[in-house]
Amino acid sequence: MAKKDYYDILGISKNAEDREIKKAYKRLAIKFHPDRNPGNKNAENKFKEIKQAYEVLSDSKKRTAYDQYGHAAFEQEHINNTADFSDIFGDVFGDIFGNSRTNKKTKKGADLKYLMEISLEEAITGITKKIKIPILKSCNYCNGTGAQQGSLQKCYTCNGHGQIHMSQGFFTVQQTCPRCHGQGNFIKNPCFYCKGKGKLESYKTLSVKIPSGIDTGDRIRLNGEGEISQNGISGDLYIEIKIKKHHLFIREGNNLYCELPISFIIATLGGNIKIPTLNGYVKLTIPEGTQTGKMFRIRNKGIRSIKRNNILGDLLCKIVIETPINLNQKQKDILYQLDKSFHEFSSYKNNPKIKNFLENIKNFFYKIKF
Ligand SMILES: [Zn+2]
Ligand SMILES: [Zn+2]
Repeated sequence: MAKKDYYDILGISKNAEDREIKKAYKRLAIKFHPDRNPGNKNAENKFKEIKQAYEVLSDSKKRTAYDQYGHAAFEQEHINNTADFSDIFGDVFGDIFGNSRTNKKTKKGADLKYLMEISLEEAITGITKKIKIPILKSCNYCNGTGAQQGSLQKCYTCNGHGQIHMSQGFFTVQQTCPRCHGQGNFIKNPCFYCKGKGKLESYKTLSVKIPSGIDTGDRIRLNGEGEISQNGISGDLYIEIKIKKHHLFIREGNNLYCELPISFIIATLGGNIKIPTLNGYVKLTIPEGTQTGKMFRIRNKGIRSIKRNNILGDLLCKIVIETPINLNQKQKDILYQLDKSFHEFSSYKNNPKIKNFLENIKNFFYKIKF
């Protein structure tokens, strides 16, 4: 049976003043008081109703809540019943009612991302790094309540539940309490240290094991090191790797590239040179007549695959022939002699590229002319 309206019970209008409420209550309470109506069950119930109505309407806060939500603002039993209802039908009706009750229980905190820059050497060997990440920890001055001691007050609109229930036709609709915004209570005096947030900024230090072979863009997941949700379930922390630019090598997958400067003498005559690899030097034979841009591949001197340990990348060296500078007169004379010797063999025997180039130019101008 629906409960009677409190204003009707006291026989007053909705905008009755406090004085009128008190007057109406006094009159009715005297009339239906059990002492005056011994054995009269009806009068006893009536007296209870009047008392209840007066308790609500004489308290300005309770009255406001009643004006806004009716009996639902105070009914404890009602809340429990509908909580069961929404648990059973939560999946079906949850969306319709905007009821996040079931989702809330399992809601994870946000995942966090941390960008970590490491050197190529560290990526190749693997390393354990300590990182400091900012976290919000529960304020220890107010135990996370956000309120100064004793200043947390229960919200009477929702009776501390954070949710209110309103009847709409056959359904009872559950809503976040508009007064306390679902908190279930109010903070009278906010905590001085956390300014009422209940949380303080802090840091935590984590050890992160970086496996060898890791590359830019790879991510390491640290389970449960993300943000903590209101239900205490943590998200994950993702460490994203970025490898710093290296002065010698460029990495591409498991291969390493480097530019290899050699003298024009070695390039011309051929010879052995030492080249740097990840584990010391290796000997590379430069054949006679090597040109700039020539690529040498040294197998298995690259990076060990992070996914398949038995796979090693290669080292690729691109030849750059260096033109000598700061020559003294004696050295220059030798080169003049050498140059002269080139011309003794007419048809550019020593410089097939130059010969080719000159012929192409000749043809080019010939074609343009006609
Ligand atoms: Zn605090
Ligand atoms: Zn509330």
